[in-house]
Amino acid sequence: MCGIFGYVGKRPKISSVILNGLKKLEYRGYDSWGISVKNKGILEVEKHTGKIENARIRLPGSNLGIGHTRWATHGKVTTANAHPHLDCTGKIALVHNGIIENFQELKRVLAGKGHIFQSETDTEVAVHLIEEYVKKDGFAISVRQAFQKLKGLNAIVACYAPSAEIVAAKNGSPLIVGVGRNEFFIASDATGIVDNTKKVVFLNDHQMAILGMTLKIIQLKNGKQIKPQVTLLDWKFEKAKKGKFKHFLLKEIHEQPKVIEHIAYNHSSYVKQLAKLVNVAFGTFMVGCGTASYAALAGTYLFSSVAKKHVNFTIGSEFNYLEDYLTPDSLIVAFSQSGETIDVIEPVSNAKRRGAKIAVVVNTLGSTLYRQADYKFLLGAGPEKAVVATKSFIAKIALLILTAHELSDKQSEGKKLLVGAAKNVVEILKKRYVEKIQALAKELKNVKHIYLIGRGLSYVSCLEAALKIKETSYTHAEGFAGGELKHGAIALIEKGTPCIVFAPNDETYEAIASNAQELKARGGFIVGIGPRDNSVFDRFFKTANLKHATMIPQIVIAQLLAYHLAISKGISDPDKPRNLAKSVTVR
Ligand code: GLU
Repeated sequence: MCGIFGYVGKRPKISSVILNGLKKLEYRGYDSWGISVKNKGILEVEKHTGKIENARIRLPGSNLGIGHTRWATHGKVTTANAHPHLDCTGKIALVHNGIIENFQELKRVLAGKGHIFQSETDTEVAVHLIEEYVKKDGFAISVRQAFQKLKGLNAIVACYAPSAEIVAAKNGSPLIVGVGRNEFFIASDATGIVDNTKKVVFLNDHQMAILGMTLKIIQLKNGKQIKPQVTLLDWKFEKAKKGKFKHFLLKEIHEQPKVIEHIAYNHSSYVKQLAKLVNVAFGTFMVGCGTASYAALAGTYLFSSVAKKHVNFTIGSEFNYLEDYLTPDSLIVAFSQSGETIDVIEPVSNAKRRGAKIAVVVNTLGSTLYRQADYKFLLGAGPEKAVVATKSFIAKIALLILTAHELSDKQSEGKKLLVGAAKNVVEILKKRYVEKIQALAKELKNVKHIYLIGRGLSYVSCLEAALKIKETSYTHAEGFAGGELKHGAIALIEKGTPCIVFAPNDETYEAIASNAQELKARGGFIVGIGPRDNSVFDRFFKTANLKHATMIPQIVIAQLLAYHLAISKGISDPDKPRNLAKSVTVR
């Protein structure tokens, strides 16, 4: 999972061009970074651990260079493991996105031939492989031969000191070439390129690109050259600024009322189209990963309860193993903020090959999923910079609430609920309410575990709330279906264990209140969230009574709790939690 950026051209400060490109791609990984540029016929390399956002570089360089921002899969976060990696001669530099699944076998063979490895990464085998081939063949041919030996979903970009070209190859991970005036760029996504040129070529899987005086696109299989398909990007990428907020995460939480209203008022035709697709499909599969998977799961509850329609749910990384029954009548609805989640892209590509129809709900125009889809639904939630997803989730939920209502011819009712939810969120975001949440965060800052329960849609809220708490505050949190806890996990409840209970004013209220009593009887410290207080609650956070949309204020309260828990625990940058990347681009 990483950001790749490469440049060939005559600009004077090419290391800065590459660094700026990498900064745009940091959402793809931010544990370490590195750049290699050609200088007077040799390759110079600079690598660092840590974030790239405030980095500067003074590497001299001319004509060409490549860079990488890493999210480690194989090998610790060290300077040696940061990319680019060099071959034994120091003449070939390479950056990589993905996982070389057969790296151990390749490493054994290469080590047997005398290659010395400098890192623990899987990546390094690729550069030594190229080194082997380049002894006999040209650079581009060698990259092609080496890439064909790699198993897994990968993209590589390499340069070679004696050559004036950058060579890239891909299968799975995205690569986009930017076509400038007498210059070329290559990057993992268009955001890295659009500041420089609007003309791009999307590299397809099993293709390679040679960037030099000209651009050549070659089929990996047969080595045949094909004509580059240039696309003109007229996308506007909004710039995100923190403004008065200390962190993007807080800012994005505060943007949610506007996002909900935006969906309520502007997505009517989208919603009609999505509802129609679900209506005629013979089997609908909602797919997502992480937070987006909870949106997909919420869809199953919403469609069943509001529209009496059965849809299936699966997490993206498991969908590959459930696809055997897909037919051309199946509909896949894939959810992804970035549209770059490989665990969604891969099974969706397989589903497409089986002829299934692909609808995607994404927040990023032009992303891989967006381009892959037969039907495209853009959330319009604006750029989400914090790694922890907030407004993109709420936007997906809002879209699903409307779609479920549209399916039962009640879109205006769904719209009313959303408008009510937006108003309620405005109340929750007010100082007095937030102070109550901050006080709870202080009470919980030293706890090791938090348990959350809910039933129906509120069960989904528990799962998402638990994820927010885990990833933002590093506190272990687990969401359970209210009825499920007594089947095992209740053994973990002891005196003072914090238990958050989502108790909406619906058919789940009585049962979840009983489950809360069961926890209290074992010493649980009960925090209730919902429209109705209950004597079982030790702390209570009121939401409006919004039927299916009650989930929205529930989640916002949980987001605020997660954020303030992180602050209480002294976590310095809740926008970039440790070990995570915004977009998960390795499987
Ligand atoms: N597998 C490679 C590594 O661990 C690349 C990871 C990435 O895509 O950032 O270095």
